[in-house]
Amino acid sequence: MKLKIAVLPGDGIGPEVTAQAVRVLKVVAALHGHAFEFEEWPVGGVAIKQEGAPLPSSTLDACLSSNAVLLGAVGAPEHDKLAPEARPEAGLLALRNALGAYANLRPVVAYEAISECSPLRPEIARDADILIVRELLGGLYFGQPRGFDSEGASAFNTMRYSATEIERIAHIAFKAAEARRQKVTSVDKANVLETSQLWREVVTRVAQEYPGVSLEHLYVDACAMHLIMDPLRFDVILTENLFGDILSDEAAVIMGSLGMLASASIGGAVGLYEPVHGSAPDIAGQGVANPLGAIASAALLLRHSAQLEQESREVEAAIRAVLDAGYRTPDLYRGPGKRVVQTSEMGSLVVEAFSDIANQRHAYHAV
Ligand code: NAD
Repeated sequence: MKLKIAVLPGDGIGPEVTAQAVRVLKVVAALHGHAFEFEEWPVGGVAIKQEGAPLPSSTLDACLSSNAVLLGAVGAPEHDKLAPEARPEAGLLALRNALGAYANLRPVVAYEAISECSPLRPEIARDADILIVRELLGGLYFGQPRGFDSEGASAFNTMRYSATEIERIAHIAFKAAEARRQKVTSVDKANVLETSQLWREVVTRVAQEYPGVSLEHLYVDACAMHLIMDPLRFDVILTENLFGDILSDEAAVIMGSLGMLASASIGGAVGLYEPVHGSAPDIAGQGVANPLGAIASAALLLRHSAQLEQESREVEAAIRAVLDAGYRTPDLYRGPGKRVVQTSEMGSLVVEAFSDIANQRHAYHAV
């Protein structure tokens, strides 16, 4: 399989974690006989410095002519005072929009080995396995009009959804649920917002096409509570842009660290894969960032943009093996008996574990 991957490391810890994800993908290609080609492009704060814009046209063109995009994170304190449309984060929003990546998939898996990292009691979080399906191109983040009034004394954003936008993301969620535990929880605020009333109506209609999947509706405030009190009740959570952004960070509590969460943004011509966390300026440059969310995002790339399910599972199994063996980046370290490792060593450990798993499979097939 040939694959052209645009790599956009971005800002802060973005380059540190992306480098480890690329290492893993290179080993996947080498051991399974694939030809992956990588090309690096600037995005976010680093692109503002180099080219004067958070998403230079050369970067966008490269992404559009690739099979997949692997991104680190964007955002830097030095740009915090810029207008929203000039900030590093605007580059990421513009990229998602240009790629047409309207479906953001965020798997939340409670790893037994790091259950002590979650503030939730093990019997509550253990075995949690949730897929958050977040609408990515609509709602408050893109709605027009938006801005400040002329005196700057008030500001406004627009939350708008069309039935078509809701329908297409609902289909993604129901299809995913069919392959999982056949349950969709649709999250809205239909007691207050018209967009949510339309959301609920359309999702209920789409559900009729999936008779094997059960549907429940929850208000976002109730969902925020249930996610912590009883994460096992969820299979697929389907929600709009802003609610999904907030709920998926909350779900990081189940996994023990924001550094563990991966994401895939699909639905357009080219898939975009990135860890859920931001550029973490507080730890950038120290070599201590957890690269597992970025590596798990690479596994999602293999699954969704390359249809390499086996390879994707092997990368996920390698992550699990490294955690089971007791290795921890500092964000996951909770006491004796575990070995603290830096970002690059964690990458090496995943590479080794992946090589063992892939070689065992080859040996098994050779017998
Ligand atoms: P953040 O996700 O960068 O960091 C939140 C906390 O989690 C920090 O304490 C950080 O050290 C920790 N953390 C995050 N990723 C980690 C990892 N891989 N390993 C270990 N610890 C990790 O969120 P923030 O501090 O609110 O935002 C920082 C910047 O990132 C801002 O400019 C923000 O706009 C941007 N941001 C970007 C994205 C993105 O690129 N997708 C997402 C969220 C925030």
